[in-house]
Amino acid sequence: MSQRLTDKFGRVHDYLRISVTDRCNLRCVYCMPEEGMQFEPEERLLTFEEIAAVVKVLAAYGVRKLRLTGGEPLVRKNLEQLVAKLAAIPGIEDIALTTNGIFFAPKAEAFRAAGLTRINISLDSLKADRFRLITRGGDIRKVLGSLEAAERVGLQPIKLNVVLMKGLNDDEIGDFLRLTLERDIQVRFIEYMPIGHDGHDWKSRYIPLSAVLDRCAELGWTAEPWGRVYGNGPSENYRIRGARGSFGLIHPVSDHFCESCNRLRLTADGNIKPCLYWADEFNVRQYIGDEKALADLFFRALDIKPQNHEMAKALAGEGQSHTPTARRMSQIGG
Ligand code: SAM
Ligand code: SF4
Repeated sequence: MSQRLTDKFGRVHDYLRISVTDRCNLRCVYCMPEEGMQFEPEERLLTFEEIAAVVKVLAAYGVRKLRLTGGEPLVRKNLEQLVAKLAAIPGIEDIALTTNGIFFAPKAEAFRAAGLTRINISLDSLKADRFRLITRGGDIRKVLGSLEAAERVGLQPIKLNVVLMKGLNDDEIGDFLRLTLERDIQVRFIEYMPIGHDGHDWKSRYIPLSAVLDRCAELGWTAEPWGRVYGNGPSENYRIRGARGSFGLIHPVSDHFCESCNRLRLTADGNIKPCLYWADEFNVRQYIGDEKALADLFFRALDIKPQNHEMAKALAGEGQSHTPTARRMSQIGG
């Protein structure tokens, strides 16, 4: 293998998150405004061939894990064809998908056959009416159908992403935990981040995830540290004693995990982002077809990757050392 993708803090990058579109069929209150989003014209999105060309070079430098995200990745037609192209690249071992789950069920089999290994489904409420409000129109039955389809075709592990928001869904912590008792899934509680939150009063909705462990104890359940969920990166994992599934806490704001960051991001319009939070970007488009120039670009991106983000400073209202991204989460992919 060529040189590894190591930055100046010694962090080795073996994981690429690929946003395949900035469009979405939902409008979650914390992610997009109800109206007025400007989307990239289709001709400005990287084609599947261009994405595969970028991944091929990254794989030669040690990238092993990929995640397809968006916007909603399944609004991109024939996405399973991209999965198949990526799965055929030497070195790629793991291809995951993050989706809102609305369109996944009918395609579960095709994705599995194409080489998808894992799935994260975002679900912020288990109550149909509330889910419709949070997503501005989503039908929870479709999401639950996708969860079942993922189980049926054998994607493993299956993770449910829950962004916890004060006064909006924090009263459902117990219900989400209860799900793990019976089902072999991992519920991942994610701290609400100050990115693309649509002026949704981030500070007043933000809640630290200690609330999850508190609720678990109140319900009389013993949460045991649980380190065995594959592909978990920054998640701090627990299992309720005797449960089939597990739960994870991802707290990028209160306790950042930047020192072990192993990820690069590729936006749908072709920019490498070395960090989710900061504005720096490097456009790949003009270098596609020139493997050496692409590799140089990745190393330039790594070279300026800051040591950490400063979301906690944003929470405290303090000044920041770099410029935060102007992109919304739907334009980065989470
Ligand atoms: N549409 C897909 C979905 O919802 O799973 C993929 C893209 S979405 C941007 C990726 C993840 O980011 C979702 O789990 C979503 O809940 C999360 N997300 C979006 N905005 C967020 C925010 N401000 N803080 C924390 N997570 C956020
Ligand atoms: Fe769409 Fe995902 Fe953003 Fe919700 S979180 S609006 S599903 S991109």
